Amino acid sequence: MKFNVAVIKGDGIGPEIVDEAIKVLEAVGKKYGHEFAYTEALAGGCSIETHGIPLTQETIDICKSSDAILLGAVGGPKWDNLPGYLRAEKAILGLRSELGLFANLRPALMFDSLSDACPLKPELVEGGLDVLIVRELTGGVYFGERGRKFTEDMGEMAYDVMPYTEKEIERIGRVAFEMAMKRNKKVTSVDKSNVLETSRLWRSVMHNIKDDYPEVEYEDLFVDNTAMQLVINPKQFDVIVTENMFGDILSDEASMITGSIGMLPSASFGEGTRGLYEPVHGSAPDIAGKGIANPLATILSVAMMLKYSFGLLEEAVAVEDAVKAVLEDGWRTADIAKKGEKALSTQEMGAKVIEKLQ
Ligand code: NAD
Repeated sequence: MKFNVAVIKGDGIGPEIVDEAIKVLEAVGKKYGHEFAYTEALAGGCSIETHGIPLTQETIDICKSSDAILLGAVGGPKWDNLPGYLRAEKAILGLRSELGLFANLRPALMFDSLSDACPLKPELVEGGLDVLIVRELTGGVYFGERGRKFTEDMGEMAYDVMPYTEKEIERIGRVAFEMAMKRNKKVTSVDKSNVLETSRLWRSVMHNIKDDYPEVEYEDLFVDNTAMQLVINPKQFDVIVTENMFGDILSDEASMITGSIGMLPSASFGEGTRGLYEPVHGSAPDIAGKGIANPLATILSVAMMLKYSFGLLEEAVAVEDAVKAVLEDGWRTADIAKKGEKALSTQEMGAKVIEKLQ
């Protein structure tokens, strides 16, 4: 089978980690007889350098005509002081809204062999951890009306509006229930309905759709309590579904529980199978160009691409198993190595995964 992949390497460590992920995809193609065609596109800081803006119509068109998009990371200190609409990170928000990517899937999976890197007490994560955070991605406060006003008595005022519609809530809710059906059949819906009107609508829509999934255990949890529960009893969760900003914060918290941010993949979807796949972490400008970045989050993002956009389940599991086997053999990049332990370079880690795949 042949698949078209748009490749956005981006900034910082982006090109280094994406190169390794593509080598893994190529190894999968060779082993299982698939062909992947790549079209490179610019976004973020590198697009600002070339075109003066973080996201061009050309990049959007390339993404729209692909079966899947692989993205490294964008942004860096060089572009931090540009006005908001020119910030490199605007490219990500632009891609999400242009491609209608309303669902973000972030698995927080702790590999047994990396349990040492978990900051929680060992008994809390015994036997590993596997939580899926389903975050709404194109609504809420990140996309609502914002602005500033001058008030006579209190000086300048800033506001960010957090709108949600029934339809937006229902479609993300259904993604969470569908995912739970393929996993451990439990959904925790996170809101702040004791304070926010959007959360009250959120909760009532979730209650309306939960009856369509009688096999799934359902619970509501306030976001502040969820933040607490994630560190005192993370194993109680299977699928957590929540709105954009809560999901942004909780998924970073969940990812740190698993050890290193360099290990965590993510996928974003709209309607249909085209998805955008990227590591959870950013462009890590502090280590860019040194060849020491951990490529595993991006490689695991490719596994998600194989599974969700291409329907290649066996191939996806083969990539995940190869990563697991490399870690079990004790190979580490600097971010997950113990003090004094030998660390592999980005390329060496990529090569180890390919060795196991073959
Ligand atoms: P970051 O995730 O880039 O880095 C945080 C820390 O984790 C750094 O110490 C970094 O060295 C380390 N790290 C991250 N990825 C790693 C990897 N693969 N291997 C080893 N170590 C890794 O977050 P930040 O420093 O807050 O942001 C840096 C830039 O990235 C900013 O411009 C930010 O806006 C941007 N960013 C982009 C995205 C994206 O493209 N989706 C996401 C988050 C942040």
